[in-house]
Amino acid sequence: MNAGKKSSAAPVRKMHHFINGRAVQASSGNVIERFAPSNGELISTWPEGDADDVNAAVSAAKAAYLDKRWSGLSAARRSDVLRAVSVRLKANFAELAMMESMETGKPLTQASDEVKWAGDIWDFAAGQARAIHGDSHSNLGGDKLAIVLREPVGVVGIITPWNYPLVVLSQKLPYALAAGCSVVVKPSELTSGTTIALARILEQAGLPSGVFNVVTGYGNPVGKTLAEHPDVDLISFTGSTATGKAIIAASAATLKRTIMELGGKNPNIIFADANLDAAVDGAIKGIVYNAGAECCSGSRLLVQSSIAEEFTKRLKDRLATVKVGDPMNKDSKVGAIVSKQQYEKILHYIEEGKKSAKLVFGGSAIKDLPGFFIEPTIFTGVTPDLSIAREEIFGPVMSVLTFDDIDDAARLANDTLYGLSSAIWTGSIDTALFMAREIRSGIVWVNTFLDVPSEVPIGGVRQSGFGRENGRMAIEEFCVLKTVVIQDSRTYSPYLG
Ligand code: NAD
Repeated sequence: MNAGKKSSAAPVRKMHHFINGRAVQASSGNVIERFAPSNGELISTWPEGDADDVNAAVSAAKAAYLDKRWSGLSAARRSDVLRAVSVRLKANFAELAMMESMETGKPLTQASDEVKWAGDIWDFAAGQARAIHGDSHSNLGGDKLAIVLREPVGVVGIITPWNYPLVVLSQKLPYALAAGCSVVVKPSELTSGTTIALARILEQAGLPSGVFNVVTGYGNPVGKTLAEHPDVDLISFTGSTATGKAIIAASAATLKRTIMELGGKNPNIIFADANLDAAVDGAIKGIVYNAGAECCSGSRLLVQSSIAEEFTKRLKDRLATVKVGDPMNKDSKVGAIVSKQQYEKILHYIEEGKKSAKLVFGGSAIKDLPGFFIEPTIFTGVTPDLSIAREEIFGPVMSVLTFDDIDDAARLANDTLYGLSSAIWTGSIDTALFMAREIRSGIVWVNTFLDVPSEVPIGGVRQSGFGRENGRMAIEEFCVLKTVVIQDSRTYSPYLG
């Protein structure tokens, strides 16, 4: 691939940090160059931030929080701003989708859907903003009343990954803003474009300066400084489990609250009584959507032994019709892999799989395309101890394991350190009920896959993390409770007698 080429068509986007309402360079003057993973052309640059830039952004966010320019507004006013962002995202989706597609390598059609999805989340959060309220205790005696206030946690640091840059940010940011928090975001160094573009959209929607700040750059120093910073009250992180652990360690000295949305090795479970046409489609979606760079991907396909052979044949036939290629082509279902490092990691796992399991589909890089493209790949005969059955590959690689009965399926499903998502395909309500109760994961899909309405909470258990995003509960993550106990002084009972 011709990584490092100058852009031949579109001009290179020169982007900046966004601190206290201003677009600024890195204090060091350094920039990161982003080359499109689908063709190697230079498409964008953004600052390579450092601790000085983080300090400036945090002090802007802290000042905005303390003077209440945002948290002091009524929820109705905050809701208006969030809804205006939603309207702008939906109306201007095309430009953001193009940026997202070029930086991530994902198909433009998919990126367009994602920007509209992000718009829907902002709309939902706008409604939720007005529902925030506290509690009262009026049963403590006639001369005493306690009120529980739900207040914003303060300054929030948000650190995001490259696989769904705008959607992941939108699963956090509108809820933090709805609660009244001020925010500093560190997007992935590979895909910072839409986060920076969002800053202008927020400004046009009426968000006061200083409430939303963006510092681009690498995990160390930018993310690490944010996690260690004494004036950051909470870190909301989405990314790998290893980085999540490093952030928890870095934030321990200041006892920050953290929300952790981490990796997964999710079981997609096919019972013999399932609607097999739907299950084949769901199994393929589970592994090719976003080129498998999906925290909820169905990379562990568990198939009941009695249908394993037939199911695998149907998978191969269907997968042969899936087009891999140029993200700008509307027929492409699978685009490029985001980076050389990720491309090599996936190919390494494919080579590992070839040593111990049976390769039945794909298994190679696509060399006649100009970027980082890999064939969707299926391994059968996978045993639970293999690395391709245990570790998150984050690429279009499916490991097929078999089970005999429902207890076997539940045991295999839970044979992982992770617990993010799972899916069950069955025609039996009893099977669905048992499995949904038995599996340890944050979400269970029955006869559907990657289906995340904005209304429902998402998040993990075990080493997939903790905390919940989306849905009604998401705002609570960004609030603290304060209890006020009020006594009628005429009946105050003196301590000293
Ligand atoms: P990553 O952990 O490498 O990076 C995520 C972010 O953390 C990036 O912005 C990175 O710069 C930053 N970072 C790296 N080191 C850091 C440090 N020491 N301190 C602070 N920040 C640091 O993850 P990635 O490769 O960008 O994304 C893929 C991972 O994200 C996968 O494991 C995937 O499962 C996970 N993910 C989870 C969810 C979810 O909802 N649970 C959603 C999307 C992605």
